[in-house]
Amino acid sequence: MSTQTCLIQGCQGRVYAPAGTQSVCRDHFFSFLTWRRRRGPQMFHKYAAMTMEERDTIAAEWQKTVRVEDLPSATPR
Ligand SMILES: [Zn+2]
Repeated sequence: MSTQTCLIQGCQGRVYAPAGTQSVCRDHFFSFLTWRRRRGPQMFHKYAAMTMEERDTIAAEWQKTVRVEDLPSATPR
């Protein structure tokens, strides 16, 4: 299909799962998952019931907390 990449800027990861209307790579998907879990079970369940547009808001909020250099896959060999 397309050569869509992770919604995190600067991330070269291949798309793994959707986050709202956009997509993220595997590493960032799990980072997003962890972030939501850390915000409590309420947020976790709320997200599951959200529309794509509402998820975008959450994803945007999470995105601000992400630093690409924190990713193991972004570390140079
Ligand atoms: Zn990524």
